Amino acid sequence: MALERTLAILKPDCIRKEKVGEVLRRIQDAGFQIRAMKMITMSKAEAEGFYAVHEDKPFFDDLTDFMSGGPCVPVVLEKEDAIADFRALIGATDPDEAAEGTIRSDFAGSIQENIVHGSDSPSNGQKETGYFFPEHEIVANTANT
Ligand code: GDP
Repeated sequence: MALERTLAILKPDCIRKEKVGEVLRRIQDAGFQIRAMKMITMSKAEAEGFYAVHEDKPFFDDLTDFMSGGPCVPVVLEKEDAIADFRALIGATDPDEAAEGTIRSDFAGSIQENIVHGSDSPSNGQKETGYFFPEHEIVANTANT
């Protein structure tokens, strides 16, 4: 087991539905430590940069409109095996396919408006964390957190 960081984003639908508290509660109850967090509204260009890997997909324009269409909350999370454990906590991309009891199964409205993002590999966790937070904005691990 390795201590890992993952980048979560509580997406604009999560903020709109006022589920920020509930989603963070589940994340903390699952043992993730919050190392950085802020509320921002991405520009269209920032959303396009974040999702550049999907630029050839038919849903790219809709996705980046959605992600830049309201405030979102990027969060840096730390835990042993954070990447895999966070993906398990949020469930499959499509809420209809997400396992029962996962965040997306319980809160998401569609495959696009699926409440939360989670990095899919340790290297993407590092890259995506750096997209929103310079290292000095990430709080170090301490004995009581
Ligand atoms: P994730 O890693 O589970 O977030 O899924 P992907 O990396 O495959 O896709 C990134 C994001 O694009 C998803 O979280 C959705 O918001 C959106 N998305 C993925 N597939 C589709 C799709 O088929 N249609 C639409 N409209 N959006 C999608």
